[in-house]
Amino acid sequence: MRIDVISILPEMLENFVHNSIVKRAQQKNIVEINLHPLREYGKGVHKQVDDYAFGGGAGMVMMIAPIYELITKLKAERQYDEIIYMSPDGDRFTQKEANKLSTLNNLIILCGHYKGVDHRVREHLITKEISIGDYVLSGGELAAAVVVDAITRVIPGAISDETSALTDSFQDSLLSPPVYTRPPEFNGWKVPEILLSGNHQKIENWKDEQSYQRTKLLRPDLLE
Ligand code: SAH
Repeated sequence: MRIDVISILPEMLENFVHNSIVKRAQQKNIVEINLHPLREYGKGVHKQVDDYAFGGGAGMVMMIAPIYELITKLKAERQYDEIIYMSPDGDRFTQKEANKLSTLNNLIILCGHYKGVDHRVREHLITKEISIGDYVLSGGELAAAVVVDAITRVIPGAISDETSALTDSFQDSLLSPPVYTRPPEFNGWKVPEILLSGNHQKIENWKDEQSYQRTKLLRPDLLE
């Protein structure tokens, strides 16, 4: 899978793409992430990418021309399954959507800034709009990182223990059971005895029950 991220601040994502599972997935050629500095497509000597809003109002707007130029160049090189704009008024991002996107081949993710992009970008170039939650960030980079991370970790082979990503919260509409590691007792606080019993069937049953109980308590909406 290939993901092209368009941003005026690609430095914000440099660290992210060179760490953890996203880094390893790239080393294993499971995913290829390319950061595109939009400013290189800016107009004039100042490489302008934003301008005042027509009709007035506070805040700058990202211009269509640099975005159009870059997206057109990318589209000439390969076919894209989705061209995504990160936006607080987009569809709320979920695990289900992450799973779905992880099966695609080529994605573009456009990060906005200021008041957002000229609406014609959204009308004519974008195929999907994603929000990571009901709050406003200063830019789309952190939101894009959330989406790229969630997609990458569910691509088969990205996580060494194949089942690990599938047993995470939300994968089966249930939250994860609690997890523990050594020591079995710390400060007098004990690990549930069943986990030390060696009885795999009983342990699996306990985990299922914990998942169910935690979901019922914390996120009853998931059980509906
Ligand atoms: N004026 C816009 C907000 C712009 S915030 C509005 O009120 O809807 C600047 C940029 O940050 C956006 O273009 C978007 O790319 C990104 N962004 C902010 N909040 C986001 C969120 N919750 N999810 C995804 N992207 C977000």
